[in-house]
Order: sequence, then structure tokens, then C-alpha cells
Amino acid sequence: MDGVVRAWGKILAGYRPNLSIEITRECPLRCPGCYAYGDEHLGGGITLRDVRDLKGQALVDGVIALVDQHQPLHLSIVGGEPLVRYRELSQLLPMLSQRGIYTQVVTSAVRPIPIEWKGLHRLQLVVSIDGLQPEHDERRKPATYARILKHIAGHDITVHCTITSQQVRRPGYLEEFVKTWSENQDTRHIWVSLYTPQIGEVSVERLSKADRASVVEQLFVLRERFPKLWMPKGLISVYSTPPSSPDECVFAQTTECVSADFKSRITPCQFGGKPDCENCGCIASAGLEAVARHQLGGFIPVGRIFTGSVAIGRTMRGLRESLSGTPPTRPAQETPA
Ligand code: SF4
Ligand code: SF4
Repeated sequence: MDGVVRAWGKILAGYRPNLSIEITRECPLRCPGCYAYGDEHLGGGITLRDVRDLKGQALVDGVIALVDQHQPLHLSIVGGEPLVRYRELSQLLPMLSQRGIYTQVVTSAVRPIPIEWKGLHRLQLVVSIDGLQPEHDERRKPATYARILKHIAGHDITVHCTITSQQVRRPGYLEEFVKTWSENQDTRHIWVSLYTPQIGEVSVERLSKADRASVVEQLFVLRERFPKLWMPKGLISVYSTPPSSPDECVFAQTTECVSADFKSRITPCQFGGKPDCENCGCIASAGLEAVARHQLGGFIPVGRIFTGSVAIGRTMRGLRESLSGTPPTRPAQETPA
């Protein structure tokens, strides 16, 4: 409850309570369907591989400066592959923990996760695993199952699987996946997202309406059988009817996404480009949307209060920026410095 009140206060003051930083442009993997390296991710013209990123102390100082600027309650560190910068993260993560920021590192566990990160307060390690071993190893070479198992040993990770159409069409696949990772002693939670296409995208990853309905039905059953599958019913329901546009998306409205040069904004959400909201399967978006659809006192949707609060926050932010002369973080379409 304290977190909700603090987040609400941030929104009213014109801050976004969530910050997502692409901490590096580098990644040793080449996963098919990766949105971060898509041509339109940064609005076209440049891609994540083209931006000028930071290393060493400049990276540490840059992250802290962004945190000071945006004052988030929750920070997602993504990439590229964040573990490419594990030395800098070993310096940063304790600092963020001490500042009371809930930090999530999203990784493919392509290299060992430093054991000194274990037990850091407010740190969540999210490991992306794309299905069972044969399919995952094919998509995420060299971050194979064998390596992941070695690299997560002794940690308490959240497994994050993004479901694609290939996985849905094999009966029992999802159950086998959830069972496999439920039995793993280094797994605390399991999350399932659905592949989110760009508008007009034609790809083998994209789920059909029937695929989506099938996943939703299976998740409702599996969450009862496997407690590590941490997915509330309201969240799963949102996968059936995602927000219709970024303006309707609580996640997009409350999250600032910044690319690896620490200047370019990723809009309208972490996917960048023109994401197909009506086919969104992002677990973070679904989680916040589930809260917004909750009805206070049984009749006032939280989302209605939220919309009013965002409008007040925009006014407050405009006032603050015009009084301080603070330049807004620039949109991603511009050429990097
Ligand atoms: S590991 Fe992540 S950032 Fe790297 S290519 Fe795969 S999906 Fe993209
Ligand atoms: S998170 Fe999903 S619903 Fe929200 S703006 Fe992005 S694609 Fe649309």
C-alpha cells in the first residue's frame, strides 16, 4: 500500500514512478524477434547498435544522474545484455539498493551472475528463457540452458518466458515449461509474457487470436497448480483485452524508457517503434492494467482516478520545467550526440 501511495504522489507531482534504462548497446546474442535491435525501436534512422553508450565510471555516474533526474521508485535495467557491464553493475546495484529503489536486472544469463548480488535488498534478477531447452538453445545461443543453469546457481531468480506462436501450438508445452522451472531450486517466480508484435508485423513469432485464448486458458489452470507461476488472475485476464493504445496503457504513461546513450527516449513504451497494443503481451503492462481495472468500493475504476492524476502531473511537470529551465529528455528519433 505504501508503494501505491508513493507512486501516486510521484504521478501527481509530474514524475513517472518507473524508469527503464538500456544500459548498454552490446549483446552477444542475436535472438529472432528481438525488439531492442529492431530498425524502428528508436524511431528509425538509428538502431540500438548505433548509439554511443557509456562504460566504466561514466556509466555509473550516468545511471545515478538519470536516477536523480527522474526519481523513480522502480528501475528496470535492460539492454542489450546488462551483464556485459557486470563490473559497473556491481558498483551500482548496492548504491540503488541503499537509495530504496526497487531494481530489476533483465538478463539472458549469458555469463555468471555475480554471487555478491545475492541478498541485495530490493533487487530482482529476471532471466529471459524462451521455452524448453531445444527451442531456447536455438533462439538464444550462446545463452544455452546449460549455461543458464550454471550461471544462476545460488541465486533466487525470476524466470521470464515470452511465448511465441511456435510454443503454443505444441500441446502441453507451457505446462512442461512451468513444471521444469518450478522444480529448479534457484527459481523463485515464473512470469509469462506473450510476444508483442509491431503494427502490421508478419512473423512466425506472432500469436493468432486462438493462440492467445489458448495461453490465457492454460495460465488460469497452471497458476493453481504451480505456485511459482506468479501471475494474478486479473493480470492474466488483461492478456485477453490489452490496452487499445499507448494513451490507454498505464505502463506507458508511468514509465520513462531511456536508451544506451542516456539521452534518447524510447517511445511509446519499452518496445519502441509502433507496437501493436491490441496484441500486447507485456507482463508489466498487464500487471499495471490489472490494478487500473480494479474497482474501488466496487464501482470506481482505479484507472479513472489515474487518468486525472496523470493530467495534473503533466501540468506540474510543465511548470517545473519552465521554472527550472530543465530540458526534457529528447525523443529517440533525434541523432545521438
Ligand atoms: S538477449 Fe535480449 S537484447 Fe540480446 S538479442 Fe536476445 S532479446 Fe535482444
Ligand atoms: S506496453 Fe503494450 S499496451 Fe502499453 S504501449 Fe506498449 S505495446 Fe501498447
